[in-house]
Amino acid sequence: MKRALVPIFLAWFSLAACAGSATAKRHKSVESQTLAWVEKHVDEQILFLEKTVNINSGTMNLAGVREVGEHYRKAFDAIGMKTEWIELPSAMGRAGHLVATQKGKPGAKRLLLIGHLDTVFELDSPFQRFERRGHMATGPGTADMKGGNAVILYALRALHAAGALDSLNITVVFTGDEEKPGAPLAATRKVLIESAKNSDVALGFESIVDHMDTATIARRGFRGWVLKVKGKQGHSSQIFGTKFGYGAIYEVARILNAFRETLGGEENLTFSPGRILGGTELRHDMAAAKGEVYGKSNVIPKVVEAVGDLRALTPEQVERTQAAMQAIVRANLPGTKAELVFEEGYPPMAPTDGNRSLLSMLSKINQSLGRKPIEAVPPSRRGAADISFAAPYVPSMGGLGLLGNGDHSPAEKVDLRSVGVSTSRAALLFYQLGTQQR
Ligand SMILES: [Zn+2]
Repeated sequence: MKRALVPIFLAWFSLAACAGSATAKRHKSVESQTLAWVEKHVDEQILFLEKTVNINSGTMNLAGVREVGEHYRKAFDAIGMKTEWIELPSAMGRAGHLVATQKGKPGAKRLLLIGHLDTVFELDSPFQRFERRGHMATGPGTADMKGGNAVILYALRALHAAGALDSLNITVVFTGDEEKPGAPLAATRKVLIESAKNSDVALGFESIVDHMDTATIARRGFRGWVLKVKGKQGHSSQIFGTKFGYGAIYEVARILNAFRETLGGEENLTFSPGRILGGTELRHDMAAAKGEVYGKSNVIPKVVEAVGDLRALTPEQVERTQAAMQAIVRANLPGTKAELVFEEGYPPMAPTDGNRSLLSMLSKINQSLGRKPIEAVPPSRRGAADISFAAPYVPSMGGLGLLGNGDHSPAEKVDLRSVGVSTSRAALLFYQLGTQQR
């Protein structure tokens, strides 16, 4: 019996090796079919981009956002994905989100792919049309981010054509209000957060910055804050005395100066007061970002309100800074009181090991396509984005759309030479990640 083990083992071993090489062969063939499909459909992809750019989808043009969503919905339906339009409460005044899912092999990695349907250019903007000039194309949303949405769609279509989509676990979330999210964020971003919790990786397709071979694995989060200070009104000649104390304006000056002296200069951390009103009386219109004050030079000021933001790279940095700011706020000058309230905001996308390994995977793919290693974009180069809501839960990488610039301005444009490169990279990344075990 003992002797029989050897041939059995050998037989098993060669069978496994054979299966291994068969799998490798299959992967190779899927990848080359996928790449060939992408290349063949670049012109079609640019036409699709043109069509969606020419539909105005400013965040507040709800019908336009839905219409752009409908084009994607049909395209995802056509490759057998399950699509759903997520409605938001009508009081929120936003169009809603498109979700497309593909259930593949159980146990394989689940990918969340993030785009957005809206742009900052509303119906009254003069910037409405896609225009091609050589290898560049200008237009609202070309870079931010209809170009990236099309990269997702065409990469999935390529995998479908190669017969590989069925086995992958994919959730696509295209939000309809990235540029001007409805409130509260916890409600408008719920589908994104839930999808992240049910995924193993999140990939964002806003534009590539700097040059073709970069990606984003870290971006700072931000939140607003409101500082309200109260003092005792009295004759200015009595300031610093025991009866009236120091007044609200000295107190706010102390607080802001202490913020800067104590916390200023830390890497990746900024906190900036953007508006301040102070005196005897004030009327502050937070929504309009303006107000009026009344105060005489011979009266100790009674009230101050200041607003600002806080930007940081990691949740730890946010927590620690908020606690330090609160400690400063509590150490009130005599005769004053102060309160600091942080608003909800975008969580940071911290540069985790998981994010770094996604970058190195993309880098290998890029090199397999004859290109350079991928560089990580410095977090200071990027604002917060929808992927920030996924980043606390799963390894995340963004900046995978088209190479573009001029976002949020009538100079917004993309380099059409990036269409094929970005879509090829995305398709290979989806396939290589999506065939890994969780
Ligand atoms: Zn934007």
